[in-house]
Amino acid sequence: MEKIKMTTPLVEMDGDEMTRILWKMIKDELLLPFIDLKTDYYDLGLVHRDETGDQVTVDSALATKKYGVAVKCATITPNAARVDEYNLKSMYKSPNGTIRAILDGTVFRAPIVVKGIEPTVKTWKKPITIARHAYGDVYKASEMRIPGAGKAEIVYTDEEGRETRELIHEFDGPGIVQGMHNLDRSIIAFARSCFNYALDTRQDLWFSSKDTISKTYDHTFKDLFQDLFEAEYKEKFEEAGIEYFYTLIDDAVARVIRSAGGYIWACKNYDGDVMSDMLATAFGSLAMMTSVLVAPDGTTEYEAAHGTVQRHYYKHLNGEETSTNSVATIFAWTGALRKRGSLDGIQELVDFADKLEEATIETIENGTMTKDLALITTLDKVNAVNSQDFIKAVRSRLESKL
Ligand code: NAP
Ligand code: MG
Repeated sequence: MEKIKMTTPLVEMDGDEMTRILWKMIKDELLLPFIDLKTDYYDLGLVHRDETGDQVTVDSALATKKYGVAVKCATITPNAARVDEYNLKSMYKSPNGTIRAILDGTVFRAPIVVKGIEPTVKTWKKPITIARHAYGDVYKASEMRIPGAGKAEIVYTDEEGRETRELIHEFDGPGIVQGMHNLDRSIIAFARSCFNYALDTRQDLWFSSKDTISKTYDHTFKDLFQDLFEAEYKEKFEEAGIEYFYTLIDDAVARVIRSAGGYIWACKNYDGDVMSDMLATAFGSLAMMTSVLVAPDGTTEYEAAHGTVQRHYYKHLNGEETSTNSVATIFAWTGALRKRGSLDGIQELVDFADKLEEATIETIENGTMTKDLALITTLDKVNAVNSQDFIKAVRSRLESKL
């Protein structure tokens, strides 16, 4: 078979630990034999981020803006332990945070549903997609340790130098404060991408926040969503037979558990971070969740929703066998290849992505899976395999489809 040709490069962001190992296996076994893969490669592994003072992360985001489509491997967000482990020059920010701050937009996360992996929540019949705002709030906050008694205020200084102040707290002893922000334009872009995604996929859209407590901050989100909905989307939703509704985050949580699924749940940045792990786990496994960042200008970045699977990596380094699930990372690649193919009008690439996804799902549905899934499957005959053998099993199924 002749390899599929690409015209525009895909931005490839390599990453860390076990997912970096899977990344190479996926490329070697599932992509390079079939595609004349064109990528603009950025090594976001922590060692190289440190060597470049994290410039490589910024460069990869700018390249994504240029080419329009990226695929990203999971990366370490350094904490104090990582600074020691890697002897880092600085405790770099989360690469995802840096990339999202440059691209803006919304992260859509949806479970990969396969037969034999049943959701923990019995009422769920269809996938639930989380739409996570990818800009601001606690991910771009300033924090301060308050050493002792004193007054903390929020001060806004306008361009003429006039100040507006708001008391945070009169401290009578040590404590903490946090200042965070968001932008109307980012919130509106978030709302717009959620409305568009709901129309594209013909699913209802829920949005939740805590506007009863956060009467200015969260309330602004609620109002901007409502204004945009009424101005531009109300009729389109009616025509499509879908619904938009707003509810408090605590009410949303209760409704989600009672629901049958099949809708998009838009969440603020932090809520989406937390709720997507809850949903992924309840749908079966963190490793069965896709994640795509959609920027207001249509730029997309595909990744897995899980982390670098550190515990498995240390087993791997010890020469022990691992059974790490590569499905979400495979789907990051298929998502990006499909998007690249459709932007460039390369139908073969789109078809390849579809077939690779089918091969992956069928492999599991026929009983060959990694241990995380073998533990929870309802299938009778299960062949629990290691990381490499799972990818090899997908390859043989893929070959029979091509
Ligand atoms: P994690 O890598 O998602 O792994 C947590 C646990 O979930 C694993 O120990 C494993 O459970 C299970 N798991 C996750 N993915 C799996 C897979 N593909 N196959 C099988 N099991 C899987 O989260 P973490 O250990 O909290 O974080 C490790 C590093 O990842 C951190 O440095 C963090 O900064 C980074 N991180 C990166 C991203 C990103 O780049 N998008 C997101 C989250 C975290 P068992 O150990 O029980 O098998
Ligand atoms: Mg998270």
